[in-house]
Amino acid sequence: MRVWLALTACTMVWVSGALSSWSEALPGVLGGAVRSVQAGPVTVQAGDNGVSTDTLRRIAESAQSISAVLLPPGLGAAVRVPSARPRLVLYSDPKGYAAAAQVAFPRSELTTVMSQTAGFTDGLTVVIPLYKYTDPSYLTNTLAHELTHAALNAAGIGPRLPAWVNEGYAWYNGLAAQSRVNPASAAKLQSELWHEVSTAVADGAFQPVAANPDASLTAREYNVEFADFLAVRDVIRAGGMARFDRFLAGVPQLGANGSFQREYGETLEQFAERWQPAGRPAETG
Ligand SMILES: [Zn+2]
Repeated sequence: MRVWLALTACTMVWVSGALSSWSEALPGVLGGAVRSVQAGPVTVQAGDNGVSTDTLRRIAESAQSISAVLLPPGLGAAVRVPSARPRLVLYSDPKGYAAAAQVAFPRSELTTVMSQTAGFTDGLTVVIPLYKYTDPSYLTNTLAHELTHAALNAAGIGPRLPAWVNEGYAWYNGLAAQSRVNPASAAKLQSELWHEVSTAVADGAFQPVAANPDASLTAREYNVEFADFLAVRDVIRAGGMARFDRFLAGVPQLGANGSFQREYGETLEQFAERWQPAGRPAETG
């Protein structure tokens, strides 16, 4: 059973190469006036008329705070390069989100994407279905999660990382952002997801994070991206954020395995094969 799936699943699209044409094809962007707010390095844009100016401003504040506080220096610098600035596009109803999803996903996946994703990132563009959120702290979680993917893409790191590192680090920042605005809701979410993971471990059903697929939309009895988060959290706890930032910064030159080996003394593959979840996640830091 996958609790919280609708609120926690994330899907990234790696169709890079044609990012600018993808962006131009977004509904609400072609023709007419574009309403957007600049939030530090992030442009926040209304995808349809249902997104109020107040909402734009509120989300821009959140995005600015996330990129300033949660991204380590290497990633923070990457998104400040003008050609690598992320863009958030917000939709107030399923119609707009469906139109955006149609640009990014094959037709066969659209039903799943519409029902099970809480947002997605394609290159530097983050698409958010606002209508799916009733609890603002979950929206904050998703903004931080997807902006992390976009920042990794901006730095040329994202496509070179195994899915578990990419998702795990996005979850790390997502939960940290959620904790900042609503510690109780972040703790409750982690508690529920931890229960699933620990049950899978007890049942012998837990699988190494290295086997986790690119997309989270597969049937497992636990949320695989939460397992990814636990693994990344343990890496960050073991060596600190500065070392993790150095690992990320080394990926374009050395590859994920080589950079990880330089910082942690084993390859990423070795770590992912041996790592098992241990200890209840009391906090995200
Ligand atoms: Zn994700």
